[in-house]
Amino acid sequence: MSYVDEVLEMVIAKNPAQPEFHQAVKEVLDSLRVVIGENEEEYRKEALLERLVTPERQILFRVPWVDDNGQAHVNNGYRIQFNSAIGPYKGGLRFHPSVNVSIIKFLGFEQCFKNSLTGLPIGGGKGGADFDPKGKSDREVMAFCQSFMNELYRHIGADTDVPAGDIGVGGREIGYLYGEYKRITGLYEGVLTGKGLSFGGSLARTEATGYGLVYLTDEMLKSNGIDIKGKTIAVSGAGNVATYAIQKAQQLGANVVTCTDSTGWIYDPDGIDVATLKDVKEVRRARLTEYKNARPNAVYHEGKGVWTTKCDIAMPCATQNELGIEDAKTLKANGCIAVCEGANMPTTLEATKFILENGMLFTPGKASNAGGVATSALEMSQNSERLSWTFDEVDEKLHGIMVNIFKNIDAASKKYNMPGNYVAGANIAGFLKIRDAMQAQGIV
Ligand code: NDP
Repeated sequence: MSYVDEVLEMVIAKNPAQPEFHQAVKEVLDSLRVVIGENEEEYRKEALLERLVTPERQILFRVPWVDDNGQAHVNNGYRIQFNSAIGPYKGGLRFHPSVNVSIIKFLGFEQCFKNSLTGLPIGGGKGGADFDPKGKSDREVMAFCQSFMNELYRHIGADTDVPAGDIGVGGREIGYLYGEYKRITGLYEGVLTGKGLSFGGSLARTEATGYGLVYLTDEMLKSNGIDIKGKTIAVSGAGNVATYAIQKAQQLGANVVTCTDSTGWIYDPDGIDVATLKDVKEVRRARLTEYKNARPNAVYHEGKGVWTTKCDIAMPCATQNELGIEDAKTLKANGCIAVCEGANMPTTLEATKFILENGMLFTPGKASNAGGVATSALEMSQNSERLSWTFDEVDEKLHGIMVNIFKNIDAASKKYNMPGNYVAGANIAGFLKIRDAMQAQGIV
């Protein structure tokens, strides 16, 4: 049996009932076969892949908190420090009822490769809790964040592990988490990113993931002789990534006609109005039905179905496994030429395979959404030198990083005889740097 297959079997046996983690590992290891095959015995001897797929540390903890009625609750908290070969652990915190160890491990594993692709010195980690901030008062969210940090603080630090936001963790939550960290430790340091601008946050961090997705998409399209200008784009999600992807795509002359939330989706033939979307989602924290009320030409559909929209480019920006095989077939039948992932692993393995085999372009999230973590690393740099860069400086660096990521994944796909397969290109390019660092540092 090949070394890759041995490790895939081991992952399933040792991590039962963790389907998302199995899926993420399979996707990466399958595309590394060609690289591993070059030196299989050496890698097997040093258990390189076993060390790659086993987190360095997994912290699971209780998060007790009290609601506004005096009722106590307990949630599960997680921080998984996956790999520190190339830098301190870095990756977001997710607060969502679906969070479990499988989800956090899949995200942490993906994060290692994504962070490597940025070219910046950051290792991979991820965390969160099965807490749902929706419908909670500010005081309840603060109580939860403070309790969460009461355990987390002992495991993180500006040079060890630097969490950020993710689904359900935005500026409000990062503020409460930072305040509690400072109170407990007495340290004013860059221990979290995505901070408010008045206490060490970076300009352009809020926009970075969505903008970065569009910068990489634009570069990928150009390299395939296609202009983003005038293209119709279907976006899913209505959160941080989706909002700023829509904004940047519109600035580059594309027409973005959809967005979604967890209950339904909007088709707006006039193009999604970002100001209305932000008002509904960021300010009022309301449903997309409110968007429809503000835009008479828009149509609201209950439930799923956004990928039935006729479009040139699909950008899934909501959550994992939201674009399945039937969706991929529908997109293809409707003339869609590219799927560019904004969320983490939004496309199922089956759908990804279909897309690659049917001549559509595809960029995996670990490359196309890396702008968020890259700008988080730029926030760390600014915190270390106790300076703040302008919006344009950060945006320009972000743009350069995304162009570079595309060049690297494109080059890796060509070097290993899979031109245009950016999934393989991203996994290989991300892996090679981590491999070099792990081998140089010995069996640790
Ligand atoms: P937000 O919480 O800001 O927005 C998420 C959006 O997706 C919301 O509109 C939400 O709907 C919807 N959504 C969430 N879960 C589900 C679900 N299970 N089913 C259907 N819809 C859902 O998150 P972000 O925009 O920050 O993150 C989106 C994705 O991008 C995630 O996969 C995240 O890991 C990834 N990502 C984010 C980065 C960042 O910098 N923010 C960086 C890199 C990746 P509703 O409005 O109803 O809650």
